[in-house]
Amino acid sequence: MIDELRAVLGDAAVLTGAEIPRKNCSDWSKLPDIEPLALVRPATTEEVAHVLRLCNRYGQAVTPQGGLTGLVGGARPSPSTLALSLERLTGVEQVDARTATLTARAGTTLETVQRAADDAGLLFALDIGSRGSCTLGGNLATNAGGNRVLRYGMARDLTLGLEVVLADGTILSSMNTMVKNNTGLDLKQLFIGTEGTLGVITRAVVRLHSKPAGMLNAFCRCADFSAVLALLASAQTQLADTVSSFEVMWPSFYDLVITRLPQLRRPLASGPGLYCLLEATAADLAADGARFEAFLSQSLERGMLTDAVIAQSQREAGEFWAIRGAGSEYPRILGEINSFDISFRRDDIGRVVNRLESELAARWPGIHALTYGHVGDGNIHLIVNLPGVTTQPKEEISDLVYGVVREFQGSISGEHGIGTRKLNYLSNSRSAEELAFMRRVKRAVDPGNLLNPGKVLPAPETGE
Ligand SMILES: Cc1cc2nc3c(=O)[nH]c(=O)nc-3n(C[C@H](O)[C@H](O)[C@H](O)COP(=O)(O)OP(=O)(O)OC[C@H]3O[C@@H](n4cnc5c(N)ncnc54)[C@H](O)[C@@H]3O)c2cc1C
Repeated sequence: MIDELRAVLGDAAVLTGAEIPRKNCSDWSKLPDIEPLALVRPATTEEVAHVLRLCNRYGQAVTPQGGLTGLVGGARPSPSTLALSLERLTGVEQVDARTATLTARAGTTLETVQRAADDAGLLFALDIGSRGSCTLGGNLATNAGGNRVLRYGMARDLTLGLEVVLADGTILSSMNTMVKNNTGLDLKQLFIGTEGTLGVITRAVVRLHSKPAGMLNAFCRCADFSAVLALLASAQTQLADTVSSFEVMWPSFYDLVITRLPQLRRPLASGPGLYCLLEATAADLAADGARFEAFLSQSLERGMLTDAVIAQSQREAGEFWAIRGAGSEYPRILGEINSFDISFRRDDIGRVVNRLESELAARWPGIHALTYGHVGDGNIHLIVNLPGVTTQPKEEISDLVYGVVREFQGSISGEHGIGTRKLNYLSNSRSAEELAFMRRVKRAVDPGNLLNPGKVLPAPETGE
């Protein structure tokens, strides 16, 4: 099979053994490396189809790989799989300003897509911290979220059409560019968020939005979580759909990162309460800026917030966001961490965080449990680290956290996906009937279980 692949793709596109770069053996989950059987790097959709046709013939399983920034082990090869990297299938094919759509190949980085939209005077609204390395195909396969979901939705909401190669090598072109199209099954949704288990995404048509004249940012403090919810509701009424982000940082997060990372500038002194980063888009900087400021003073008078500072420049806004984005520094300041990406009904979040932080502290005194996240979307991130312990009790910590998720009927994954990391906890968020139906879909679309085996869906219960 390797010889046949080389004959069609060329030697440089099929690597084995020591030729395989280490980066293709795992992803940002930092799970231990697994060397794939081979690494193939097709440069066209037809080449992807050729690889999958051959794999289908030989019964060879495949792990699709994008930018390898996933946090749950989805792109990490399973033992004996072929890694299929989309890194050579790159390029923005078209930006159509009249229909506000962009067509790109799956291996194009998110940053390149954003830049192409920007050059055409438009906005591709998906934005995540890994933008320089993650790919459009990976973003769609994981249904990525990020900082502006509140205003523009997740990757799913920004996608109009897809081209996908199925497990048997069939090219399924569904490159719809229309906003309205009710013609039976919305096929693209089968592949968005299913982490490469149903097909390999090769091209996509995404929606663009008009580019705001600027962004308005305020770093605020609220007395408690009910004040946070009141501030958010009021912002969404008064500033309407200009509110693009509403991020909340609990003191467990703010106090630690602001003291441990001297490069961060402290916008507000540490004190009682929670910290919020409110961002709104401006069509007219002067008029919308005045409205934003008036909204904040009124919120202060009404007691929804106790302090606030408005960014006076892009640099200052960047400093606010650097605090919220301090996550990439965790390994340096904390060592090994256990990270959670969980979501809930917005109004449950205050109680959930109190429960999680207090139960973790009671079970492991001195534990770090840093909480922050996209509260506007009901999604929080929790970083747990037991200081001075070389082997973190990962499983016990996960059991505790996902137990609380189950109790509050939340989701074990807000935006990062399941991969292999959360496989054993999927039933905390999905019913037995839902899991059985997902397996039926998988069997129907990929009967040989060749696409990303061992990811997303746990092995069936005996008898199912
Ligand atoms: C610093 C940092 C910040 C991050 N911030 C966010 C955030 O705010 N929000 C968020 O949602 N995520 C975030 N992430 C996680 C990650 O960047 C996203 O999950 C991203 O969408 C993954 O894209 P990728 O190209 O790196 O995919 P990979 O990691 O390569 O793959 C992810 C999954 O998609 C599959 N896949 C990849 N390409 C394809 C394809 N073409 N067809 C089919 N399946 C494919 C893989 O098999 C795997 O299951 C962050 C990660 C880092 C490191």
